[in-house]
Amino acid sequence: LDYNEILWEVAQTVEPQRGSGKVANYIPALAEVDPMNFGMAVVTRAGDRFTTGRADRPFSLQSVTKVISLTMALESIGESFWKRSGREPSGDPFNSLVQLEHENGIPRNPLINAGALISTDVLVSRYGRDGAVEAILQFAQELADGEPVRIDPRVAASERETGFRNAAVANFMRSFGNLHNPPDDVLHVYFHQCALEMSCQGLARAMLYLANGGVDPITGRRIVSERRARRINAIMLTCGHYDASGDFAFHVGLPGKSGVGGGIVAIAPGQLSVAVWSPGLSPQGNSLVGTMALEKFASLTGLSVF
Ligand code: GLU
Repeated sequence: LDYNEILWEVAQTVEPQRGSGKVANYIPALAEVDPMNFGMAVVTRAGDRFTTGRADRPFSLQSVTKVISLTMALESIGESFWKRSGREPSGDPFNSLVQLEHENGIPRNPLINAGALISTDVLVSRYGRDGAVEAILQFAQELADGEPVRIDPRVAASERETGFRNAAVANFMRSFGNLHNPPDDVLHVYFHQCALEMSCQGLARAMLYLANGGVDPITGRRIVSERRARRINAIMLTCGHYDASGDFAFHVGLPGKSGVGGGIVAIAPGQLSVAVWSPGLSPQGNSLVGTMALEKFASLTGLSVF
C-alpha cells in the first residue's frame, strides 16, 4: 500500500469539512486552538512514517492519555485493577456521574473519566503525587522515542479551575472507598496527565506497541505482554469513544481512543498505528473531521480487525 497516496486522498476528502465541529470550550486553554488545524500520521511496524497536514504540531492529548495511564496501572497492579473498574461500554458522556451511583463507585471502564481516575489513583499509590506526574511524563517520553512530549502547565491549570465535575467524580468514588488517595492529589495528577502534548507523528509512534503485540517494534522493548496488548485494544475498540464507541467500531473498525483536544489514535494490530488531529468535536466529544479521516483511511486501506 502506498500510504503517501492514501493520506493525500484522505486529506483531499476531508478538506471541505476542515474546521467543522465545535472546539472544546469548557477548558479555556483549549478553546483558543484554531479549528482549521488538521494533521495525520501513520507509523508502520517496520518504522516507516507517513504524514499529511500539520502532523508535527503538538496538541493537547487529553483523554488519549487514558490509554497510557491504563497501561501503567495494569503493569503496576495487574489483574486486580479489574476489581476497581469494569470493562463495559458506558453509553454515557465521558464525565457522567449517574452510573457511578447505581454501580457503587465502580466505573464502567478505564477510558471514561471515572475509570481513568482509578488508573491515576493506582499511580499515585505507587509513585506519590509529584512522582506520578513525573512517571507518566517519563513513560510517554520513552514510548515516543525522541518525539517531543511535554505537559502544558497552562492547560493543567485551566482544567483544575474548571474541573468541578471531575472533582465530583473523584470525591464520589472516594465515598465508596474506590479511591485510595486524597481526591485532590489524584486530580492534580489527572489534570497534568490530560495536559500532555504530542504531535500526530509522536502519538502514532508512541502507541506502536499496541500494534505489535506489546513490544515496541523499533526499540525491541516489551511494554506489556501480548495478552495485555490484546486486551487494551479490545477496551479501546469497545470504549474508546465514549457513547459513540459503537459508531466508531461500525465505521472505522479499529481500536481507537479520542480526546477533547481533537486527537484520535487508532491501532491496526499487526500493521501500524495512525494518529489524526482536528480540534472541532462532535456532540459526543470526538474529533469530527478526525473520525471522517479515519473512516476514509480504513476504507482505502481495507484495514479493520473484522
Ligand atoms: N481533561 C478532560 C476532562 O477530564 C478530558 C476529557 C476528554 O478528553 O475527553 O474533562
